[in-house]
Amino acid sequence: MTIPTPSPRRALVLFSGGQDSTTCLAWALSRYGRVETIGFDYGQRHSAELACRAPLRRRLAEMKPDWAARLGEDHLLDARVLRELGASAMTDDIAITLQASGLPNTFVPARNLLFFTLAAAQAYRRGLDVLVGGMSQTDYSGYPDCRDNTIKALQVALSLGLDQPLTLETPLMWLDKADTWELARQLGGAALVELVRVETHTCYLNRRDVLHAWGYGCGECPACVLRARGYAQWKARSRPHSDRP
Ligand code: ZN
Repeated sequence: MTIPTPSPRRALVLFSGGQDSTTCLAWALSRYGRVETIGFDYGQRHSAELACRAPLRRRLAEMKPDWAARLGEDHLLDARVLRELGASAMTDDIAITLQASGLPNTFVPARNLLFFTLAAAQAYRRGLDVLVGGMSQTDYSGYPDCRDNTIKALQVALSLGLDQPLTLETPLMWLDKADTWELARQLGGAALVELVRVETHTCYLNRRDVLHAWGYGCGECPACVLRARGYAQWKARSRPHSDRP
């Protein structure tokens, strides 16, 4: 699925070290002539994902010479000010529950708005004109800053505020988790699926002691449940017809 002549546009991928952003990074590497990455330390409980970032970048570059040639610098920013604004189950050791608003208490208000704004500032200084994020409206936790309209409005605001066009790409917006596994297969075959399965981190509770069919995690937090269900659905969908009962 690698495009032989990549777009001359230059991208900055919001890269956390999780399944979605790793798939987005492979997607960007197959499209753009130059791809840099940016990550944020916001005091997340699942800090294991930050440790996954460097090995993932290295392994992706080893996967295809084109990708190695296009992969540029990595940037890691301190966004722990988000934690100072208040507790959430994403940053503090409290049980994951639904709030009266209907949103889970893993919601960190304005997290993605801040991340895209900081990424836009970095992109401006680095001469990059596409921001890529792994937000999805199809299979998500109800976070309003993952919605397509939020991202589209932000694209307009950032482009106006910087006085230069900035494109916000969200290749997973209309994919469910099973589709995201399939996208990884299309972009990098079984090797990329295996990289995503074993080397990315999703679990909110930071567990990496048990390797399940779908990867490491506690198997019970909302992030693990989504990832496990998507993997099982993808496996069921991709099974050859002759194997089906
Ligand atoms: Zn978990």
